[in-house]
Amino acid sequence: MRSLRISVTDRCNLRCQYCMPEEEYVWLNRHELLTYEEIAEIADIFTQLGVEKIRFTGGEPLLRRDLDILVRLLAQNDRIRDLALTTNGILLASSAERLRRAGLHRLTVSLDTLRPDRFRALTRKNVHAQVLEGIEVARRVGFEKIKLNTVVVRGFNDDELVDLIAFGKEMGAEVRFIEYMDVGGATRWSMEQVVSRSEMLSRLERQLGPIEPLNESEWAPADRYMLPDGTVFGIISSITQPFCCTCDRARLTSDGIWFLCLYAQEGVDLKRLLRAGASREHIAAAIMSAWRQRTDRGAEQRKALREQRTPLPAEDLRKNPHLEMHTRGG
Ligand code: SAM
Ligand code: SF4
Repeated sequence: MRSLRISVTDRCNLRCQYCMPEEEYVWLNRHELLTYEEIAEIADIFTQLGVEKIRFTGGEPLLRRDLDILVRLLAQNDRIRDLALTTNGILLASSAERLRRAGLHRLTVSLDTLRPDRFRALTRKNVHAQVLEGIEVARRVGFEKIKLNTVVVRGFNDDELVDLIAFGKEMGAEVRFIEYMDVGGATRWSMEQVVSRSEMLSRLERQLGPIEPLNESEWAPADRYMLPDGTVFGIISSITQPFCCTCDRARLTSDGIWFLCLYAQEGVDLKRLLRAGASREHIAAAIMSAWRQRTDRGAEQRKALREQRTPLPAEDLRKNPHLEMHTRGG
């Protein structure tokens, strides 16, 4: 366990079709949310157990008020080598500088299309320009090596791979194409809409020339590649090439449930332990014991379903919102 993703809110100001396509959602009770002090305490225990990478996510993390306060708390922890945030970028222009000053190391911004009309159709909001402005401001205030996450959906944005790489190059940002996943929340998912890593590579190769794989850390979720002009990009292929056997990620929801796998049905209630007054040692022991017994292979098991692979029904998600990607943190 090296990496912890902390969902700071399940709320979102977009409704991306691949994540939150429904009209109505059941939200976590605001009173159940961990305070910043509680998040910092839990994060600290995780770092004592070996976690060195922490990412804030959600929902949309920038909707949580004064997030820079939490960033500052975690930035004081020397065991954290990489402190990052994934955002849809809408509120980035107004918060990038504060986040930077608070000690955030890195940013990933989700950007699925360069076309405002498509953005609106995908997200139900007409705020594409705000996202682009957010990326600009983030660069200006000193965030280097910004990453751009693009979920590739057949028939929606699969004709923009080359343009997105060019945009990333212009912005000094690295694009990471993500295979469209059947995570909780993706109730409109179908295998036909998934563009596989190999298809992405052959399309890019046809237009841009030979692509060289960069054989790096076996732990990284994204496989990285280099184009003939030196531009580097990544592909996360959890559908066609799941990486369960090297997965080192844990996920904490904003109400303190720890999930050991993105696809897990059950989590461990760390908030209950914390609020019951359990000692740090006790909580650390509970985490260690659960992680050692971990048998999760969510993405591989989904792959093995083949034709029977269907998204989780919206009804199940309403009954148990912890199954939602926007709750457990993407
Ligand atoms: N709201 C923030 C954002 O969109 O960047 C952070 C949370 S979002 C759940 C984190 C990442 O998960 C985003 O990059 C998003 O594109 C990705 N994601 C959401 N649903 C997905 C799906 N069905 N398949 C693949 N990636 C998905
Ligand atoms: Fe889109 Fe992120 Fe919101 Fe999901 S959580 S709807 S991916 S912006």
